[in-house]
Amino acid sequence: MTSPYQTFNTPADPRHSSRLGFFQRFYLVQVLQGLKLTGLRFFANMWRHTLRTVFRVKSAHGAVTIQYPDERRPYAVRLRSLHRLVRREDGSPRCVACMMCETVCPAHCIYIVATEHPNPEIEKVPERFDIDLGKCVFCGYCVEACPEDAIRMDTGILEFSSYSRGGMIYTKETLLALEPAGHNGAPTSPVPIPADRGMPLEPGTLPKRSMP
Ligand code: SF4
Ligand code: SF4
Repeated sequence: MTSPYQTFNTPADPRHSSRLGFFQRFYLVQVLQGLKLTGLRFFANMWRHTLRTVFRVKSAHGAVTIQYPDERRPYAVRLRSLHRLVRREDGSPRCVACMMCETVCPAHCIYIVATEHPNPEIEKVPERFDIDLGKCVFCGYCVEACPEDAIRMDTGILEFSSYSRGGMIYTKETLLALEPAGHNGAPTSPVPIPADRGMPLEPGTLPKRSMP
């Protein structure tokens, strides 16, 4: 039995989209129609904005554009942004190098080297804690898996970038220096700038980062 959907939008169907009308075959006509529509929207919006700002007509609402990056939308509370490592009161990482986050990370982008903690009550501390954000998929599993609440994704920072792959590797020092976002979700820490911007990563080395 033939499905009624099999004949829909096929060349045999009279409604098939490839059957262009006479004027549709002249693309210039379509372009002019598009320009007409865009122009109408533009001047209608400009008129509504003029009514609202110049003539104080409160009921006139034009299209709203957020002037990014000077203006920003408030971010959702649950937004997963750039990671940070939570500090203890003495400034050392709360992380105990249990490797749970490294194990659970589906992108294998966390690299931890553990060492003894000087405090005998704390078993271990990360000597090295790197996240390769060029590979991270921002799933948040590392945050969920952490038994110490030592890693969070609440900095509100989304605009981090680098000209090199090595520049996307964030080290323990950089992650420890970051602060949580403010109450409106806006970042309170500056975006970390890779010190080796544009430099290729040498094998066995990691880029140094600086906070502007
Ligand atoms: S957010 Fe996901 S992919 Fe990124 S470091 Fe954490 S576990 Fe790995
Ligand atoms: S951040 Fe949390 S899960 Fe990852 S090694 Fe440290 S304590 Fe373990």
